[in-house]
Amino acid sequence: CKELRLILGDQLNPRHSWFSRVDDHVVYLMLELRQETDYVRHHAQKLLAVLAAMRHFAARLKAAGHRVRYVALDHPSNRGTLEANLDALLQHYAASHFSWQYPDEWRLDQQLQAWAARQTVVCQAVDSEHFLAPRLAASQLFAGKASWRMETFYRHMRKQYGVLLDERGGPAGGKWNFDQDNRKPWRGSPAPLADARPSHDHSALWQMLQDAGVAALGQPCAAQLRWPLHREEALALLQHFIQHGLPCFGDYQDAMHSEQPRLFHSLLSFALNTKMLSPLEVVHAAAAAWQESKVPLAAAEGFIRQILGWREYVRGVYWARMPGYASSNHFDHQQPLPHWFWSGDTGMHCLAQAIGQSLRDAYAHHIQRLMVIGNFALLAGLSPQALHEWYLGIYIDAFEWVELPNTLGMSQFADGGLLASKPYVSGSAYIQRMSNYCGDCRYRREQRHGDDACPFNALYWDFFQRNAATLAGNPRLALVYRQLQQMDAAESTAITTTAHAIRQRLDTL
Ligand code: FAD
Repeated sequence: CKELRLILGDQLNPRHSWFSRVDDHVVYLMLELRQETDYVRHHAQKLLAVLAAMRHFAARLKAAGHRVRYVALDHPSNRGTLEANLDALLQHYAASHFSWQYPDEWRLDQQLQAWAARQTVVCQAVDSEHFLAPRLAASQLFAGKASWRMETFYRHMRKQYGVLLDERGGPAGGKWNFDQDNRKPWRGSPAPLADARPSHDHSALWQMLQDAGVAALGQPCAAQLRWPLHREEALALLQHFIQHGLPCFGDYQDAMHSEQPRLFHSLLSFALNTKMLSPLEVVHAAAAAWQESKVPLAAAEGFIRQILGWREYVRGVYWARMPGYASSNHFDHQQPLPHWFWSGDTGMHCLAQAIGQSLRDAYAHHIQRLMVIGNFALLAGLSPQALHEWYLGIYIDAFEWVELPNTLGMSQFADGGLLASKPYVSGSAYIQRMSNYCGDCRYRREQRHGDDACPFNALYWDFFQRNAATLAGNPRLALVYRQLQQMDAAESTAITTTAHAIRQRLDTL
């Protein structure tokens, strides 16, 4: 052997150029590490799915003739840390070269660079061949700008990749963005997308994790793990979504329903973030469905925007602003998360649903993450860093490069408005309009103050009152501040009193 090549747990792309030919001088290393199972408390399904997918990937490489050294978490040769394992393996194989694909997380990027700098062998990092924009594309595009609008980045990407353009290079259908058309609640029809995901029994793997003492949250469902674990399963999920889910994706993108946690969402984020699928093939599949008149333009555009726009853009924000970004806290919010973030046991039905579902499925769709859980956290003044840890652990697709800008930037406005043009917050009216959650709630959504009032209402108005000094000048919030000005003094005092009482008893809500 001459060269060791490290494959990380979220680098499971069988089409990477590394694998285009078999070379006996190359050994691929895959390591199950406690630093990865433990850097945050993960959802059990996330631990299981990542490790099971890594094992699949190793088996696939071996079957294709590649040399692979797979070090399981409980294998006697596992030295514990990344560095100790790499040192030992370098020596064992007497390798002269070491390569790795650029990690997506700052933490690992630093760690590998520091380790490589100490080696005498030739070390080299290569592209992961996954993303469509280089790490620093957003910082170059927005150089000198105070706010970085996703829409600008997205249009740039549409043009660069020639996606949904007309013959003159303008946007297909005359508009870049059909978001206004995508805001329907779901009231029982059309029939939601059937769950076509595979099911795997990984009870033995779960036992191994328990024996090793790895802490986890949420329901493992180890005997029926329902996430795609290799590319072929991910492709099948993509095809099923394009055919049956995409036609309605746009219309019901923001809708929420207690019995239908997923509605028309794709559930592709795990497959994308572990690189089983490439973003470009997903974008092309959606664009082709529109070209073949199988889906409306608004649906294809809405879906493509998430991947070609948001996903690439948040990664750009991450690489431009790390490591400082992780500690940003614009409103200086310090409250710990209420205990029911780990049980779903709260009388607020929307939060009980969104958190309960997250614990059960390791999944919530975007609006549940943003406009229910994140909305509450921002209004209640929860610590964005504590919230970030929670989001980073609980979701099947949570990797810091995508989770952190979404949580701190989009959801908590902790970066002071770099990413979002205004805080994404609402009172109960939005949740009532977009879901059926309020129907079964013990709180009264039409009340703004008092013990029975929906906590979102008092917290919402109080949030804008408290932050008038920094937010009142924002033109996108002019209406909110006009309404506040028109509110009579007694109402305003009652709201403040209720909001204060709510913040004192978050654990018992
Ligand atoms: P769909 O709704 O079907 O969307 C298709 C794809 O678009 C997704 O698979 C995803 O790859 C991409 N996408 C959609 N929205 C975003 C976005 N805002 N940022 C980046 N990509 C997006 N996404 C993650 O992949 N990992 C995370 O850790 C994560 N944390 C989030 C935390 C918060 C507070 C919020 C508000 C959003 C977060 N998102 C995260 C974005 C989004 O909620 C998920 O990508 C989406 O819910 C995944 O489900 P899906 O595959 O069914 O998505």
